[in-house]
Amino acid sequence: MAKTDTVLAQDAIAVIESFAPRSLAFSGDPVGLQVGRLNKPVHNIWLALDASPDVIEQAVGSQADLLITHHALLFRPLSRVDTSTVRGQAVAKALAHDLCVYSAHTNLDVADGGVNDVLAQLLGLRDVEILDRVQNERLRKLVVFVPESHHQEVMDAVCAAGAGHIGNYSSCTFNTPGQGTFLPLQGTNPFIGEAGKLERVQEVRLETVVPESKIEDVVRAMLSAHPYEEVAYDLYPLEIMGKAYGIGRVGQLPEPMRLLDFAKMCRAQLQLQHIRFGGAPDMNVRRVAVLGGSGGKWVHQAIAMGADVLVTSDTDHHLVAEAWQDGLAIVDATHSSLERPVLTRLKTELEQHLGERVSVTIANVNEDPYHWV
Ligand SMILES: [Zn+2]
Repeated sequence: MAKTDTVLAQDAIAVIESFAPRSLAFSGDPVGLQVGRLNKPVHNIWLALDASPDVIEQAVGSQADLLITHHALLFRPLSRVDTSTVRGQAVAKALAHDLCVYSAHTNLDVADGGVNDVLAQLLGLRDVEILDRVQNERLRKLVVFVPESHHQEVMDAVCAAGAGHIGNYSSCTFNTPGQGTFLPLQGTNPFIGEAGKLERVQEVRLETVVPESKIEDVVRAMLSAHPYEEVAYDLYPLEIMGKAYGIGRVGQLPEPMRLLDFAKMCRAQLQLQHIRFGGAPDMNVRRVAVLGGSGGKWVHQAIAMGADVLVTSDTDHHLVAEAWQDGLAIVDATHSSLERPVLTRLKTELEQHLGERVSVTIANVNEDPYHWV
């Protein structure tokens, strides 16, 4: 992150990607910067679910520099920007006003603290687990040889940058003392020794585990804390799996509730006027699956995970009827009501990391395309 006063689009994006890295996105999901440039200075950041023409119009009207959305502006392959169409005009308007548009979609669904965790929290779920595992983080082993004088400093730097986490333990390293040798050649400026003379130095072989998403940060931190001009280090791919990531969540309500009361609680928490559900109103529900967005495909997984009810959106007659025959109730909220709560988390993260240098606004728009009568 830039330490200067100017925040660039890439700094704001780094805040989002620190917990929702693009590597978590489903394959083919066009997450990331969609319009604009990473090095654009940004003061005024807007957040919305959709980069709709209406949102772009409002963002441009408010001199926004960066618009961060959940659903991508360019989603279906865009073969042309025809400015006689509404969506073509939206792209042209963003470009003409130097508005960067960035999307965090399925990576934000899957992320810790993303769409589905925020939803689980909003509904008061406990003992929350992943509904459907998507991937495990890949791990690397970092081995670096450090002179004893700088051992602690390098260890602290790599751990602070994200190395050394195993389960709920941090700062996990192994350290073996030994003797390093090197011969500085012509033109070098060695920290220890002199050109043309073989040196023997007491060093420590420091080894630790690094998640793939943190490799760049960890190596950069290691190189800046290490005193040597040329640092000897190795990175090995590991076969063991890192932390699991997945879509949807399953958890327990503190107490069993009647399905009717649970549906009313969802309606209140999601700030809706209406909500619909499938299932016997008097049945008790305790184990709840949530999937922000269109969750019809996860009915069987919710049943497999022992859920009594699935809270999602965009379901249809046959899906709900069959789920109910299989013993799973469904609370069908609106797509936008399930996903809008995460925007508050994004706003908090951006404000905490970037402080007063930016202002962050959640677009005040109704993103439900339906009207309810
Ligand atoms: Zn969605």
